Parts: sequence; structure tokens; C-alpha cells
Amino acid sequence: MKSLFNGRQARQYRDPLALRAYTSRLLGQNPSLVLHGGGNTSVKAQIKNLLGETIDVLYVKGSGWDLATIEPQGFAPVRMNALSKMARLKNISDAQMVKEQRAAMTDPYAPNPSVEAILHAIIPFRFVDHTHADAVVAVTNTPQGRRSIDKIYGNKVIVIPYVMPGFLLAKKVYEMTRNIDWRRYEGMVLMHHGIFSFHDEAQESYERMIRLVSKAERFIARCGQKKKIHLSGTSAPQQKNNLLDLAKLRKTVSKASGKALIARWNESPKASAFSRWPKIKSIATRGPLTPDHVIRTKPIPVVLSSTIDQDIQSFSSQYDQYFKRFANGHLTRLDLAPRWAVWPGHGIVCFGETFKDARITEDIAEHTMEAIIWAESLGGWKALPAKDIFDVEYWELEQVKLKGKKSRPLDGKIALVTGAASGIGKACAQGLAAQGALVGALDIDRRVETLFAGKEIKGITCDLTKDKDIASAIETIVRQWGGIDIVVSNAGIFPVSAALQNVDEKVWQKSLDINLTGHQKLIKAIIPYLQEGIDPTIIIMASKNVPAPGPGAAAYSVAKAGLTQLGRLAALELAQWGIRVNMIHPNQVFDTAIWSPNVLKERAKHYKMSVTEYKTNNLLKTEIKSTDVAQLVCALAGNIFAKTTGAQIPLDGGNERVI
Ligand code: NAD
Repeated sequence: MKSLFNGRQARQYRDPLALRAYTSRLLGQNPSLVLHGGGNTSVKAQIKNLLGETIDVLYVKGSGWDLATIEPQGFAPVRMNALSKMARLKNISDAQMVKEQRAAMTDPYAPNPSVEAILHAIIPFRFVDHTHADAVVAVTNTPQGRRSIDKIYGNKVIVIPYVMPGFLLAKKVYEMTRNIDWRRYEGMVLMHHGIFSFHDEAQESYERMIRLVSKAERFIARCGQKKKIHLSGTSAPQQKNNLLDLAKLRKTVSKASGKALIARWNESPKASAFSRWPKIKSIATRGPLTPDHVIRTKPIPVVLSSTIDQDIQSFSSQYDQYFKRFANGHLTRLDLAPRWAVWPGHGIVCFGETFKDARITEDIAEHTMEAIIWAESLGGWKALPAKDIFDVEYWELEQVKLKGKKSRPLDGKIALVTGAASGIGKACAQGLAAQGALVGALDIDRRVETLFAGKEIKGITCDLTKDKDIASAIETIVRQWGGIDIVVSNAGIFPVSAALQNVDEKVWQKSLDINLTGHQKLIKAIIPYLQEGIDPTIIIMASKNVPAPGPGAAAYSVAKAGLTQLGRLAALELAQWGIRVNMIHPNQVFDTAIWSPNVLKERAKHYKMSVTEYKTNNLLKTEIKSTDVAQLVCALAGNIFAKTTGAQIPLDGGNERVI
């Protein structure tokens, strides 16, 4: 492991807090030191208050900040005096500790100080760095962990046996170090938890961390050579059956959790090889890398067999037993679903309510696999006893967070929207994503890929008249997020108007191909995935032209009438799997490519109206926008319409002919 410290960069940061933020970011950039909000750092400083008094404070990482991106305002200034006195208290609850720490802040607008603030205050150096370095934790998670730590560091580090983080840990360190000479040590190892380094200079404190962790890495490399674990593997070939199994797994896990979850399939050579390890069942289910991860990963993953339903059921009942064994009284049990699965032969699958949650779990799982492989090569992977894991998972501070958790109506849902590069489809993709859904945005127009290149909406080029394009787009979405729940079959064209005797055969055929057959092809291909979807639904963009056709638009109206009939049949046939199918009949949605400013002007003139009058040419005298259609789509995809299928809903501001 290399130091990333750059003297030239560091010189910009004259203020100790700015320098503290800089070296914290260096730690945060290395995922084998800290992951997603893990670890914490601090600096001790003096400030002058309004009254001119000098106050000793500890600037410690604030909760909600990530070391990778932390800035000076991410540190909470807490009076050293109060923290030192708290360390001497006999016992207080962690909730009390958090309250007192907050009360001791010199800036009430700063974030909540880390729960390790007291521990940082006890360490008599200006800069303190704390990480959950994979290598150090992996060594401590072995039967001879303590002996190995002694071998690696001699007497250069203080070693603290595992204690629950928070006040108990601060107290333990306070008592164990009261009479020691800290200058003799370079760091402190917390068994099964992590490592601290400290110094009066920021650079030295950071670089000590790098040196200490590198020693553990070299130890693993040396000892690991003697008993090398050989995991060979290649990525599993991507097959349709695998993707359907993935969707089934996601559905079963979502059911167990009581809400829709995203599933991230990781079939990297490492994950694949790990999943093929002959003793995987025993090795993967001994416990997490550190209890800190349990909030994200649950204590263990589920190891799948050929019967996914039974696997998840047995995971849930074991989790329930684990909860009942250790819970005493008023705890709120978390859901019964696993957060990651080992899929023998195929890699691992990680679950989350949002894409970000699933990615965090995936990162942690990747580091856990690595640490397990290391620990096995050192003599055996041995996690903490279940009771210690439980105490962190059901920590009072975590239980409070649960109560304040907010979610969006479509969190965990996966949608496919066609014709998403423009107009109504674009608004639907954005509207569904704003409510929490992950969206595959399909269009024949390649620009969809740059328009939607983010993590929550993925633009995919697809010509809906081609079966191959449709299959590939569906597979891309399922591969990426684990399934499909919402289909907005929207793409369409408005062919040139012509009286029946003048209809061009090519124009007629093209309209049928895109406005009718394209939708039929999509629905046919997607049914197997919707059967494994969560509250699955299809929303079809038809037209006011179905209930109230206009002369000259036969190619369009006939195709849309056929599409509506297709939707009605789909509602009849797919209800047996709980798939709802509803149709929207919009009219005159002008902020779309169908309506160019010229066409709009021409049509208004034709009816002897101004453009504004023409735009609100309906009973309610209101203009229909593509975002109005998107809102209706979101409602149809959500709970309000959970019991409606086969409906045709006008969105036209009121039309006498339709009514
Ligand atoms: P739009 O032209 O802005 O968007 C339609 C999108 O569909 C375009 O991005 C286009 O590239 C895409 N598309 C066309 N052929 C495709 C194919 N073969 N494969 C993939 N994508 C294809 O128009 P819009 O008004 O947003 O239309 C959306 C839907 O709403 C259409 O079905 C249309 O018939 C229907 N509709 C629109 C109105 C209106 O007034 N705008 C009224 C009633 C119904």
C-alpha cells in the first residue's frame, strides 16, 4: 500500500482542519482502508470564542460524511474538556453519550460528532486516524489472530480486545491506557474492528496508517504463500435462463423483505470462483468482516441451492430465531431478507432498496470475500460470536435511524420505458426515476444513450420493430438491476395524414409496425420477466384517436385501436400472474416532437384559433403537458391503481366526443 501524500498539495492547507480534511480524503480514497462512510479521523485544535476565550476542541468526523469526500465543515468541533470528563464516567448509554457530545459542540450547526469522539479525545496526539483496514481485520478474524498481530507489530501497537463500539469501547481504551506512555506506540489495533494511528503531524499520522496496514498485508502475503488457496474461475456465461433465475431470486428476496429491492449480480472472475469454492456453504456463513458492516449486509449471506424459495425461507426463519435469541424487549426486528446471496457457479447477488444501497453492499461483499480468502490461507476464517454482531445490528443508535428513514413510492422498482428520447417517454422516464424507480430508457434514436447516461436512468438504443433489439434491451436491464416491474409501452409515430383513398401502403405498414406490432413484440418478450416482477404492470400509450378518431388519420388511429385491443387482451390474459395492463388516451400533448411549432401554428390557423386558444382547446381549457402524462403513468405504476386493470383513461382536458 502506497502513501498518497503529496507535499505540494498539502502545503495549500495551512489551517490544521483543512490539512485534516486533506489526509482524511487520502484514507477515504483507498477502499481497502475504509468503505462508504466507515472509519473516522480527528484533529485537536484551539479556537477563540466571541468572548475572546480560548477553547480546546476536538474536530472529529461528523456522522453522514464520507472520508473520501470530507471537507472541513464535515468535522464537528467538540469541547475537549467535556469529552475527557465523559471518558471518566462509569457508565452511560450511547444515546446519552450522543446527546452530551452534541451539547458540548461549539457550533450547533455542525453535524453530529462520530460515536468514537471520546476515544479520539483520549489519544494524546493532535492527529488521530482510524480505519477498518481489510488486512488488519482479516488477520484478527483468525483463531490465532492475537498471536499474529503480535508477530506483525511486536510491541509497537496497543492491542484492544473486541468491545462494542461507542462508550464501552472508549471506556475500555481509557482504562487500558491510563498509565501507559503513548509515545512508545505507533498505533492501536482493535481486534475484529480496525486500527488507529496517531501523531502530532498530519502526514506522519497518515503515513503510519499506511505503514502499519502494509505490514499486515506483507504478513498475509508471506504466510498465505505457504497455504495458498487456489480459486480458479471465469465469469459465468450470460444466459436467458440465468437472468430469469436472477429475477426470480430478486422477487423472492423482495417478498421476504416486504418491499421491492434492486438486485446487483456480480459475476466477476473473483466472485464466480468464490461461489464455486467447495466449502462455500460453511465458509461464507461464519459472519461479517467487521460488525460495522452488519447494518448493510445482515450477519451472513444466503448460499443458494437449486431451490431458491426454500433457501430464502430457511434464511428468514434462521434470522428470526437469531433475533429472538438475543432481543430483550423493545427492539424492532429488521426485515427477514438477506442482503447478499452466494450463487454457486454464478457469483454473488447484492440487494438494496436503492441502486446506491445495493452498490454499497456489493463493495462490502467484495472486500469480505477477499478477507475470507486471506484468513483461510492464514489458518481459518473466524468471525465474532453472533451475540456481538447482534449488539451492533440492533444498537440503539441504529434503531433510532430506522424510525426516521424516508422512502420514495417507487424505490426498488425497475421500469422500462420506450420512446424515451423525446416528449412523453422522456417525461415518463424522468418521472418514474424521481419517484425512486430505476429506468431502462429505450429509443431508436441513439441520442437516448447520452441523454440518459446516469446510474438511475440508462439510455438503450433499440428499434422496437426488431426482436433482437428488444431481447437485448430487456437483458441489459435485468442484468443490471435484477428484473423488470413496470413497462411503459409508449414509442410511436404520427404518420402523414391522408384520406383513405390516398393512403400510401408504406406509410400504412410503418404505422402498423411501430404503433402496433412493436408493442406486441415487446409485450411478448417481456411477459416471462413480468411474471417474476413485483406488482408488475404494463401501461400502454394509446390515443384519444381510439375513442374519437379524426378523419385523415386512418394509419394512426387503426394502429392505436389495435394497440388498445391488444392491451385489453393482455389485461385478460396476464391477470393470472398479477400483471396489470392499463391504457392512457392522451390528446394534444404539445411539448413533444410530434408537434413542431409549424404544425401547431398550421392547425391553430385551420381551426381559426390563436396558438394559445388551440393549446387549451378542451372542456377544462387546460394545456396538457408531457409531465401530466408522466404523473398519470407514475400513479398507474403505484399503489393507487394496484387493483385496476384493463382501464382506458383519457388525458385530454375533457373532450365532448370522448365523453
Ligand atoms: P415524440 O415523437 O416526442 O416521441 C416518440 C419517441 O418514439 C421518439 O423519441 C422516437 O424516436 C421513438 N420511436 C419511434 N419509433 C421507434 C421505434 N421503432 N423504436 C423505438 N423508438 C421509436 O412523440 P410523443 O408525443 O412523446 O409520443 C409518445 C406516444 O404518445 C406515442 O405513442 C404517441 O402516439 C402518443 N400520443 C401522443 C400525443 C401527443 O399529442 N403528443 C397524443 C396522443 C398519443
